[in-house]
Amino acid sequence: MKVRLLVRYGELSTKGRNKKMFTQKLANNIKKALMNYPQVRVFPDYDFMYLDLNGVPQEEIIPLLKPIFGIQSFSPVYILEKKMEKVKEVVLDLVGKENPNGKTFKIATKRSDHEFVMDTNEINLFLGDAVLEAYPEIRVQLKQPDITVRVDVRRQHIMVSLQTIQGAGGLPVGTSGRVSLMLSGGIDSPVAAYLAMKRGMEVQCVHFASPPYTSPQALVKTKQLAAKVAIYGGSLQFFTVPFTEIQEEIKKAVPENYLMTVMRRMMLRITDQLREKNHGLAIANGESVGQVASQTLESMIAINDVTNTPIIRPVATMDKLDIIAIAQEIDTFELSIQPFEDCCTVFAPPSPKTKPKLEKAREYESRLNVEELVRRAVENTVVEEITPNYVAEEVENSVKMDDLF
Ligand code: ATP
Ligand code: MG
Repeated sequence: MKVRLLVRYGELSTKGRNKKMFTQKLANNIKKALMNYPQVRVFPDYDFMYLDLNGVPQEEIIPLLKPIFGIQSFSPVYILEKKMEKVKEVVLDLVGKENPNGKTFKIATKRSDHEFVMDTNEINLFLGDAVLEAYPEIRVQLKQPDITVRVDVRRQHIMVSLQTIQGAGGLPVGTSGRVSLMLSGGIDSPVAAYLAMKRGMEVQCVHFASPPYTSPQALVKTKQLAAKVAIYGGSLQFFTVPFTEIQEEIKKAVPENYLMTVMRRMMLRITDQLREKNHGLAIANGESVGQVASQTLESMIAINDVTNTPIIRPVATMDKLDIIAIAQEIDTFELSIQPFEDCCTVFAPPSPKTKPKLEKAREYESRLNVEELVRRAVENTVVEEITPNYVAEEVENSVKMDDLF
């Protein structure tokens, strides 16, 4: 008996002329996720895709398909010889695995081979009776039964399927272009990364580190967060920007209540240059309107001023609790709440301006050699490929923050 997985596209099926590009990309993403299973063959078709498992147990493949964006649902399909006794045996076995007692079921037969010895009604009755006989506490119910046994009589074989497994939805990663996502060690930006990927964006992470004020462990934690979201795209690039010099310069030259605004302007400039160098189309971040002082609309005006590049803010309108729910679902929450310092918290003034003025931000910033600072930070940025299996190297103990001030 051969087993296939039938993959359904969902939103992809509305893509019209671009559909081929989308299905090809999805097929490639699936192949990438199944890299360790070269015997599995992927066949993209117009309305669905199927995977020939070639002997690999479906239990090993199913978990790998679940996080792949662009898959609406998928079903294991059993390919059988056209012998009804054999079909009956398989159906009874599959229904038996669903704890059938007390449940409802129906048999739904389709027949494209009109010369087959039984018609759809006869098949429904034959298999239905067999199920009722084998499992006395199951009932037939045609509308929304607990178990639907799909039987498809084709020219060459009969296909049987029972389960429909929910996929991740969304669009295949890469079909919407590339973005530079500003990844901190917090709760919001990993969720933003996940949501951007769900809409088909390929994400490159940009992280600002200020050693020795921020520790190597804080950097490792952020890479671990990147590894968690890398599951949804196979792997991703992680850029570590050296931000110490810029923060020290800002601290020297800018009044306390504008530190945050000027710092964010610098971050955005650097991210934009990295984006351009790496052929990204937009920037993404984890800003949520009203959450903290730097995330008021006035603040966005004062920060956003440095670029015309579109900024995607996937969690902009979400409540914190809703963001946390997603963080828990994608397993980033526990990592995010580990108490490591972030470059923002280290330099966070006691009272940042909640309504900074654009003119003032520009004026204070003009005290810095912006171009040169940005150039150096970009030049010294380190890039690394993060896969879902990322394991941190040993990190030395960090300098204590208290020793530095
Ligand atoms: P998060 O939970 O993502 O840290 P937050 O609620 O703490 O967000 P802020 O600290 O104001 O909010 O940061 C807003 C956004 O700015 C972050 O979501 C992230 O996209 C970006 N950001 C902040 N700090 C860094 C950093 N060190 N490196 C890269 N991006 C950062
Ligand atoms: Mg933060």
